[in-house]
Amino acid sequence: MGTNKNLYLNKIQLQAELDRCLSCKAQPCMKACPVGCNPQEFIALAKSGKTQEAVQSIMDKNILGETCGLVCPDQFCMKACTRRHIDFAINIPKVQATILQNYRQNKEAFTAVTDNGLKVAVVGAGPAGLSAAAELARAGCKVDLFEAENKIGGAVNLIPEERLPRDVIEKDWSYVFNPERVTLKLNTPVDNLSVLADSYDWVVVSTGEHNVTELKIPGGEYALSYIEYLKNPQKYQTDGRVAVVGGGNVAVDCALTAKVQGASGVEMFVRRRLADMRITEAEHLELLRCEIDISPLTSPVKIEQSGDKYVMTICKNRVAEGKACALDSTEIKLPAFDLIIKAVGSRADEKTEHEKIIYAGDCRTGGSTVVQAIASGRDAARKILEKVA
Ligand SMILES: Cc1cc2nc3c(=O)[nH]c(=O)nc-3n(C[C@H](O)[C@H](O)[C@H](O)COP(=O)(O)OP(=O)(O)OC[C@H]3O[C@@H](n4cnc5c(N)ncnc54)[C@H](O)[C@@H]3O)c2cc1C
Ligand code: SF4
Repeated sequence: MGTNKNLYLNKIQLQAELDRCLSCKAQPCMKACPVGCNPQEFIALAKSGKTQEAVQSIMDKNILGETCGLVCPDQFCMKACTRRHIDFAINIPKVQATILQNYRQNKEAFTAVTDNGLKVAVVGAGPAGLSAAAELARAGCKVDLFEAENKIGGAVNLIPEERLPRDVIEKDWSYVFNPERVTLKLNTPVDNLSVLADSYDWVVVSTGEHNVTELKIPGGEYALSYIEYLKNPQKYQTDGRVAVVGGGNVAVDCALTAKVQGASGVEMFVRRRLADMRITEAEHLELLRCEIDISPLTSPVKIEQSGDKYVMTICKNRVAEGKACALDSTEIKLPAFDLIIKAVGSRADEKTEHEKIIYAGDCRTGGSTVVQAIASGRDAARKILEKVA
């Protein structure tokens, strides 16, 4: 994993990236951004010294501009960058994060909005909920934002600190947070959405996918959930061997974190082939650099405790007609893991059908990205505003 000092560009690198922009008229980067951020515009503004306008251009479109600058994958604006056809894409996310880190000054100045009389509850203060709340507040609604945890951010708080320093999302939110319009209620889980809906004109539900998929095998309970692990990796620090069951981005974050925390060996057990792993090129390279072992086409079948260690029995799989199937008589026992982490997926709560309830973010679309969840929250807010217009 990279270190914090590499997360932003230095002044020379920033200038070099700004100079590489071709100012394409078609603005393919903006079209590829889920929230419609306009890199061509904020790059041109920063290049001509209008740094405050560049900051505003980013934050008007994306309330979590710096967070996204640090974690947006290269599948959006960078993939669309014309410069890719000449040499390589401009690192738009890093440019965005650096402009905000270097030039963002005080809180956004709120233009006074007329109260539109609507009272909306937003449940869940992850990216989707924050975005819905901000959009509704800008339109003059009164918003109560309910969050079960003691801080905002949702799954963003599970992104390892080496990729996203802990204070960045708070910095983004405090810039757009309008306390006159939004009341943030931390440590306030909502357990009955229908009852809540009785007290509000609308309810936006953006509770993410927080129910971790279990390993349905004997001893599956010995495996620690990725949420529990990534919330507080120091608590599970070990210099022994760590197994990570799963092969997606979240499993990669668990494996890299275990290595950063000092594990002597980390092995990922992936049900399908290496080529099926849905991870980015950067993640592939990071796994190689950190010497993480990957065992593709394997599934755990049993976990047993042995003293203070765990023994995991695995079997080999093969992929047939798109499905991974266990091969007979291929079981082997792997002894002496200090920690086994399960990262094989998660799901949303059961939905409550109600005419006043709109779903947004990962609980609506399934696991996505921060910028897509922001777009989804904004769209849910706009749907409400359209209905009452
Ligand atoms: C380990 C990890 C790494 C990731 N890395 C990246 C990355 O690099 N780039 C990227 O773009 N995306 C990444 N993601 C995905 C991204 O974090 C999610 O797509 C995004 O956070 C989803 O936003 P959301 O608002 O829909 O849900 P969440 O972020 O899950 O937020 C839901 C919120 O609802 C709250 N809540 C739940 N139930 C209740 C209730 N009953 N009452 C009140 N509050 C409730 C939760 O506490 C939480 O705060 C990563 C995710 C994980 C887990
Ligand atoms: S928000 Fe993300 S996808 Fe959109 S322009 Fe910025 S870095 Fe690219």
